[in-house]
Amino acid sequence: MTRIIEHWINGKLYQGAGSEAGVVTDPATGLVIARANFASADDVDVAVAAAAAAFPSWAATSLARRSNIMFRFRELLNARSDELASIITAEHGKVLSDAAGEVARGQEVVEFACGVPHLIKGAYTSSASTQVDVHSIREPLGPVAVIGPFNFPAMVPMWFFPIAIATGNTVILKQSEKVPSAAMWLAELWQEAGLPDGVFNVVHGGKETVDALLTHPDVQAVSFVGSTPVAKHVYTTATASGKRVQALGGAKNHMVVLPDADLDLAADQAVNAGYGSAGQRCMAISVCVAVGDCADTLVDKIRERTLTLRTGNGRRGCDMGPLVTAASRDRVRSYIDAGVTEGATLVVDGRNVTPDADGEGFFVGPTLFDHVTADMSIYRDEIFGPVLCVVRVSTHDEALALVNNSPYGNGTAIFTNDGREARRFESQVQVGMVGINIPVPVPMAYYSFGGWKNSLFGDTHAHGTDGLHFFTRAKVVTSRWPDQGHSGIDLVFPRNA
Ligand code: NAD
Repeated sequence: MTRIIEHWINGKLYQGAGSEAGVVTDPATGLVIARANFASADDVDVAVAAAAAAFPSWAATSLARRSNIMFRFRELLNARSDELASIITAEHGKVLSDAAGEVARGQEVVEFACGVPHLIKGAYTSSASTQVDVHSIREPLGPVAVIGPFNFPAMVPMWFFPIAIATGNTVILKQSEKVPSAAMWLAELWQEAGLPDGVFNVVHGGKETVDALLTHPDVQAVSFVGSTPVAKHVYTTATASGKRVQALGGAKNHMVVLPDADLDLAADQAVNAGYGSAGQRCMAISVCVAVGDCADTLVDKIRERTLTLRTGNGRRGCDMGPLVTAASRDRVRSYIDAGVTEGATLVVDGRNVTPDADGEGFFVGPTLFDHVTADMSIYRDEIFGPVLCVVRVSTHDEALALVNNSPYGNGTAIFTNDGREARRFESQVQVGMVGINIPVPVPMAYYSFGGWKNSLFGDTHAHGTDGLHFFTRAKVVTSRWPDQGHSGIDLVFPRNA
């Protein structure tokens, strides 16, 4: 019998009254492994009510107690990270070592949030005016919603909820319906760590569930990660209902290779960043911009390396796993067809890959196109699959113009041995996260993650200082404790003295 995945509300499983359910497949075999109940608007009400009821006492819990629970969560996660990695591989398909890497990067944010007593410290000014002191504090917002994409079942929610919880908020997590189990595992881990019931809740679902969260009057803030059209919808809907919103969207990341670069390093990194997680990363490199006369050699080197990759079931030590669903596989294949029709040179064709897997998994092998131009759909659209496009340009300026004309601005990288050129790229490129000889420049947890343009809607990026600000609001207290009686009536605007 198919396993049914329920919601997690107020510290226990909750079946829900929604009539819909989503199918969860193992992408490596194509088999249905579970069904996730979808939350109706009424179910969302129940989850938000639990989060609202838990909020006052959690917000009033001392920082010492809160950080203690964070530390316990961190220890449990460290000890049992393999379990989480195998859940990710089972539903997403990425290879086990990559799933473990995802958990480790999420863990970094937990560790950052363990330092909340220090991070949240305000300022204090004694005697700002005569007998007047001023101090600032940051307070939690209330129930907040975190809505995540399929491609990072654990890490993306962990960009947000550790900081939200550590700063005293309560959370309703709605992870992608394609990969619902990691969220449930994390909920149970929180309970084991001693988090009070109702502080961390999980609901499953699609558009109806998301929209109920976006418009719920008791949800104070929304952290969203997903495709650009949905991010726009989330931003406009939730801000219209008065919420604080950060909505991270899609991407098309360019890696620029200057002629002086170490081309072996560049080829290695293009392959790692283009095909890791079967290209299903918002920081994947999908365009390699070869500048000047390095193009032929670079394409040869990328081709050689691409041909060595083993595609298959992520539990078998392969390099690359499947796409997440049959629909994703078909979409990626149709882009490869389009690239051929549009006149790009297909150097490595992943359409007929023979995977190391049993069953009918959703595989497309690593695919390399050369001579791609900016008008082709394989260049313009976010394919979100293992398709790497090489665009040839003559100069660094042309490369910069190409990157800056993209409607996306998530990540980019330059490969060069010339510090001046790297510095010029860094200052002139209009992208939120920049790598120099590093293809996937995901910031450490104590910096903030986020793109520009159509890759992020809102003012604050994820985690780091931005995360702390997003999940708290500032209060400044000006106080006077006069030595002697009050100074009488004076309607003049208060001045400092
Ligand atoms: P998606 O936009 O289809 O789904 C994201 C979330 O929104 C899911 O929880 C889904 O249930 C929900 N959703 C889907 N359609 C909706 C609708 N019409 N109305 C309301 N909610 C809806 O994205 P995905 O396919 O799960 O994830 C891949 C996308 O996420 C890619 O575009 C990728 O670039 C992006 N992404 C971006 C970042 C980033 O940091 N910028 C990180 C990871 C993924």
